[in-house]
Amino acid sequence: MTEFPHLFQPLDLGFTTLKNRVLMGSMHTGLEEEKNGFYRLAKFYAERARGQAALIVTGGIAPNRRGWLVPFGAKMANSSDARRHIEITEAVHQEGGKICMQILHAGRYSYHPFAVAPSAIKAPISPFKPWKMSQGTINSTINDFATSASLARDAGYDGIEIMGSEGYLINQFLTSRTNKREDKWGDDFDHRMQFPLEIIRRTREKVGKDFIIIYRLSMLDLVDEGQSWQEVETLARAVEREGVSLINTGIGWHEARIPTIAMMVPRGEFAWVTQRLKGKVKIPLITTNRINGPEMAEKILSQGFADMVSMARPFLADPEIVLKSMQSRQSEINTCIACNQACLDHIFDKKVASCLVNPLACRETEIQITAASQFKKIAVIGAGPAGLSFAFYAAQRGHKVTIYDQQSEIGGQLNMAKKVAGKEEFYETLRYFDVQLKKWNVTIKLNTRISIEEMKSSEFDEWVVATGVLPRRIELEGIHHSKVVMYNDVLTGRVVTGKTVAIIGAGGIGVDTARYLLGEEKNFEEKWSVDRSYAHRGGITSAHKTNEPERKIYLLQRRKGKPGAGLGKTTAWIHRLELKIDQVKFMDEVTYTKVDDEGLHIVHNEQAQLLKVDHVIICAGQHSERTLYNQLQASGKKSHLIGGANVASELNAKRAIEEGMRLGIII
Ligand code: NAP
Ligand code: SF4
Repeated sequence: MTEFPHLFQPLDLGFTTLKNRVLMGSMHTGLEEEKNGFYRLAKFYAERARGQAALIVTGGIAPNRRGWLVPFGAKMANSSDARRHIEITEAVHQEGGKICMQILHAGRYSYHPFAVAPSAIKAPISPFKPWKMSQGTINSTINDFATSASLARDAGYDGIEIMGSEGYLINQFLTSRTNKREDKWGDDFDHRMQFPLEIIRRTREKVGKDFIIIYRLSMLDLVDEGQSWQEVETLARAVEREGVSLINTGIGWHEARIPTIAMMVPRGEFAWVTQRLKGKVKIPLITTNRINGPEMAEKILSQGFADMVSMARPFLADPEIVLKSMQSRQSEINTCIACNQACLDHIFDKKVASCLVNPLACRETEIQITAASQFKKIAVIGAGPAGLSFAFYAAQRGHKVTIYDQQSEIGGQLNMAKKVAGKEEFYETLRYFDVQLKKWNVTIKLNTRISIEEMKSSEFDEWVVATGVLPRRIELEGIHHSKVVMYNDVLTGRVVTGKTVAIIGAGGIGVDTARYLLGEEKNFEEKWSVDRSYAHRGGITSAHKTNEPERKIYLLQRRKGKPGAGLGKTTAWIHRLELKIDQVKFMDEVTYTKVDDEGLHIVHNEQAQLLKVDHVIICAGQHSERTLYNQLQASGKKSHLIGGANVASELNAKRAIEEGMRLGIII
């Protein structure tokens, strides 16, 4: 008897049946544009099909060149394009899976000068002003969607998903924000929705009845002049009439300034939107966004909010998320923590996606875990992300691994991160490592500060030093004043700060520390002006309000520029906006003069100022902790250095986990 009866119920679409209620949602991996990328994609999708995803949707594929998201992006426009995809569909089918190709025309989000849109209005997130589509271009674009779908069928796909949300071309037709036309494709909603309806009509004609068509419908635009709920409902009914098999939920345009998938978004936050549409159409509805485990998925389905759930990034984090749930092995699931650091941030940096918690993702052809040629006894010092990751991979290969840490729990720096409001998902990563280390018989010795003498006399074949980093102390008059504390003292709770605080250093840790001091997350919808009552177009109430914070916080840096400079593109804007909402006073180009009983003395805008604060928190980066490594080297023991102990600058969990893995798979 499964613990997830709703999740594992098949879904009959009439002409085909899906084996369960989990859709692997569309994700661009960057492999689409890589040399040998289709071979790698085939392995990537096959692994997820083997992991029991009922239906996979590929990353967005353009129906023509103008629809490219980036120049020379993947497209499906002719038979030679179609031939390249056969490798993917065959690999998925061999594993008993089903796969749809997503057709995505980027419209004004196209990152090239040939971008087209219903009206020539530049997107706030693109440097390119689009060309207004002529009636002829509209007509040929609709045909290109239908041709693309038909080619997808030739290539062996089980269906297609028409990308009608997230602010891409189809979405641009639907709202007066981006469609100012007065012809038959604009003016009122009846006209504006003709573009997607005509696409579905012509597509259904070409592909026949026994081919899945998913329509990704923007149910909550989250931008001014977005669709009203009435319009969403009208469109849903109309796409059903045109022969769509399933409606998937789209939340938020890319230009919306409201987080929709980042870590601080509560799990399952947007399922209510799909639920609003339940009963208004007869075809199955798929819900999405921040569903990262079987428990939440089951809850949503059992409450009747949707007929199916879409998870995308969770399949990067763990290709077996569904299989493990079927086998009641949920504790072994490597949970997606919604950090975006190795997936979306990589795509924005034009790199192939992977996953912070699973660095094997999208490297299926490159990295295999094979048994070690010689089993060794290995000691790891430091149970932070680098040490844990190393131990996990090395133990799987047959090595006998013992991991030491002087703290009472595993996790190292992650134990600080998990306490920051909105970053609680790090608890999942620690749970995962804990379960896996036990599963692979790693000996864990906590509360153990190992000395060089013990190391010298031990019988380990090799040593892996993952002793991490120490906070960097800075030179400043008054640095030893009792008001001055280091960030780790604050984040571990050793020091409770007063109501007025200055933070020196506005990197990732400075921003995290400010967030930590602001306390518990407030009501998400209130904070981000999400309008659940849908009284306003786009489902947003107003511009973001400001909160009255519990603490007055100054966040300072010496250089010119924004705070959180090293943070990923897809989340840095959210952190900055949060600081603004919570009235954190950010100052750049600051010179620190001294700390004394009065507070922190600085020079800003060429003026001497006194910040009358209770505490000054130093968040000025880190340096490597290598004492033990140096001693081991001197004693002639075979040792390796990984993580922050190796290189402290720009250290993050992504690099630490990957470094641990890279050593673990070859040692
Ligand atoms: P960081 O990003 O390098 O920032 C250090 C800050 O300290 C800078 O703002 C720097 O600004 C200041 N600073 C450096 N030396 C100083 C000195 N001598 N006196 C005064 N100020 C000084 O380091 P971090 O904040 O410790 O973060 C470490 C790593 O973790 C980074 O790679 C970061 O991206 C990552 N991280 C990521 C996240 C995330 O959510 N993705 C969260 C936390 C940390 P000025 O030199 O301009 O003053
Ligand atoms: Fe999830 Fe982060 Fe991995 Fe992306 S990188 S899949 S957000 S855990």
